[in-house]
Amino acid sequence: MEKTYQGSCFCGAVQLTVTGAPAGMGYCHCESCRKWSAGPVNAFTLWPPAAVKVTKGADQIATYQKTDASHRKWCKTCGGHLMTDHPGMGLIDVYAATIPDFPFAPGVHVHYGETKLRIADGVAKMKDLPKEMGGSGVVLAE
Ligand SMILES: [Zn+2]
Ligand SMILES: [Zn+2]
Repeated sequence: MEKTYQGSCFCGAVQLTVTGAPAGMGYCHCESCRKWSAGPVNAFTLWPPAAVKVTKGADQIATYQKTDASHRKWCKTCGGHLMTDHPGMGLIDVYAATIPDFPFAPGVHVHYGETKLRIADGVAKMKDLPKEMGGSGVVLAE
């Protein structure tokens, strides 16, 4: 049996679950994540769409897409951020903060070339993205 983890927005109007194991997880330091979240980094967990189910408040979810690469979703009632759909990757980033019971285990820092918050945690720092995700694959020092 694959494990299911509960998630919700800030106010609880939107509830969701993720099931199984994510395709990847880590921290994103890109300017888009920083500007949209108003935080220095975004802790992400990437899931195949079938693993993510909205169980309550689907009509409360709003979406904004500056580019087709990222469809950013939040709760209309509280403004709390939920997830970003990445259609090009075929994956959904459910923010680690949205699913507090999920055992978040970051494997990579991406877009570290744009960082505003250096983190000395021994986890690999990619200048942009890994090669298999269309990036340069360049690894930076912490
Ligand atoms: Zn909410
Ligand atoms: Zn980002």
